[in-house]
Amino acid sequence: MMKLSDLGRFEPHLNGKTAAEESEYFYRCHKCGQMVDERDARQVIWHSFSEHERLIIDGGASHLP
Ligand SMILES: [Zn+2]
Repeated sequence: MMKLSDLGRFEPHLNGKTAAEESEYFYRCHKCGQMVDERDARQVIWHSFSEHERLIIDGGASHLP
C-alpha cells in the first residue's frame, strides 16, 4: 500500500483558495472512490494517474497545526 508520506513532503495546492467549510476542500476520486483533499498537491497528483490504489493518509493539510 502507498502511504501519503511516501510521496514526499506536503505541498500546498489551490494557490491560496479558501473555503468556508473544511468539507469543501474534498472531492471523491472517480477512479478509486477515495476522498481527495484538494489542498494537498500530492493527493491531487496521485489521483490524476490513470492507474493507482488508495492512499494511506498518514499526514496532510488536515493534520497541519
Ligand atoms: Zn483515486
